[in-house]
Amino acid sequence: MRAFDYVRTTDTREAVRLLADDPEASPLAGGTTQLDLMKDGVLAPARLIDITRLPLHDIERRGETLHVGALVTMEELAADSTVTERLPVVREALLLGASVQLRNMATIGGNLLQRTRCRYFRDPTVGECNKRTPGSGCAAVRGAARMHAVLGASERCIALHASDLAVALVALDAVVHVQGLSQSRTVPLTEFYLTADESPQRENVLEHAELITGVEIPLPPPVARSGYLKVRDRMSYEFALTSAAVLLVVDGGTIDQARVGLGGVGTKPWRSYEAEHVLTGAPATRATFLDAAEATMRDAWTVPGTAFKVPLARRTLVRALRTVSGVTA
Ligand code: SF4
Repeated sequence: MRAFDYVRTTDTREAVRLLADDPEASPLAGGTTQLDLMKDGVLAPARLIDITRLPLHDIERRGETLHVGALVTMEELAADSTVTERLPVVREALLLGASVQLRNMATIGGNLLQRTRCRYFRDPTVGECNKRTPGSGCAAVRGAARMHAVLGASERCIALHASDLAVALVALDAVVHVQGLSQSRTVPLTEFYLTADESPQRENVLEHAELITGVEIPLPPPVARSGYLKVRDRMSYEFALTSAAVLLVVDGGTIDQARVGLGGVGTKPWRSYEAEHVLTGAPATRATFLDAAEATMRDAWTVPGTAFKVPLARRTLVRALRTVSGVTA
């Protein structure tokens, strides 16, 4: 590992200034992904700015919106009473997203910024990786690609976005709060991420001297039902092969409102507007769910290693919709 400077601050603006002063500096929060990548030689910041003491640890409900500080841990958010009562899709995504040890270290801001698990990206001895070295190619397209993406993917990069929480939050229209050097801004999570086919080397719209300070989650109507289904090779400590975050409001057998996020398939947390379009106003039946699943995966781009994900993602979404709606026929 490359030697680095370490500095700690308790002031958010000071943290941003320290970042702005040094293009090789990087913020450090829970460190559950970042330190692995530093040990592997993929990341080599000259300076780490420890932000764990910034005043960004609160969860606060204001009316029908939940405000979550960027340094709230995954475990703290999963245990929050509003999340338990009104946001089961978020709670399930958090609990299925990591082991309890990781959930107690990993922060919400860090979770949204976690890097891909692509094995070629994480191995600096592999020369072909457009994400690490723009223009070098993509080893995954012709290599083992079981854990890679099929939506927002192309020959340039098929790296999967690994966050479960982000899949639930894009479905809920969450908004990210960002602090920059001279101003703060808000970005809808659906506009926060970039797909790998448009920019393999850049995964989101965050600039170097910007910090995520919090996330705003609009609460769904009390009558809404939601859930997160994760399909994986083993039942714990494993990333999604496919997953679905679903929220439905069903009235008299008709779907009044539908939100769908997909994980394990996209180069970013995938919001399926196609599925929502099919579902909204339609009868809550298995036939409708099958149509929604078909629409969702229509634009999939596969390589031999990822082709199995298309039918699996369809089945995952249908099962999630049946579970949340209670429709078994
Ligand atoms: Fe690199 Fe993306 Fe290809 Fe993985 S999928 S090797 S991250 S370019």
